[in-house]
Amino acid sequence: MSQCLFCKIVRREVPASIVYEDDDLLAFNDINPQSPTHVLVVPKRHIATLNDLQPADDPLVGLMTRRAAALARERGLAESGFRTVFNTNRDAGQTVFHIHLHLLGGRALGWPPG
Ligand code: 5GP
Ligand code: ZN
Repeated sequence: MSQCLFCKIVRREVPASIVYEDDDLLAFNDINPQSPTHVLVVPKRHIATLNDLQPADDPLVGLMTRRAAALARERGLAESGFRTVFNTNRDAGQTVFHIHLHLLGGRALGWPPG
């Protein structure tokens, strides 16, 4: 997936403000933040959308989810609250086709989303 933007960020071919890394995941600040905290948690391995997840990916998705919660806790958001979002395909406004979990927090977030 040589042309994928988030694969390029994983390979350090595109710069990003990285806040967490391990063998499986990278997390970095969104370039166009929608809240005081807006972090994207991505798997290092390319997966285009949630529609492409396989049963073997369940542990990876668990790691993504728990990492988002840990990053929220580090930022003091565990009690006040935060939102985690996967956008999938056109109607949800997915623009980067490498799955990413948005972590949003630091302000009151409206519901339902637009
Ligand atoms: P989506 O709309 O696909 O759910 O979210 C894609 C997100 O990636 C958007 O929030 C957008 O601001 C962010 N984004 C797009 N290009 C870049 C980039 O080059 N660097 C970073 N850090 N975020 C990006
Ligand atoms: Zn990718």
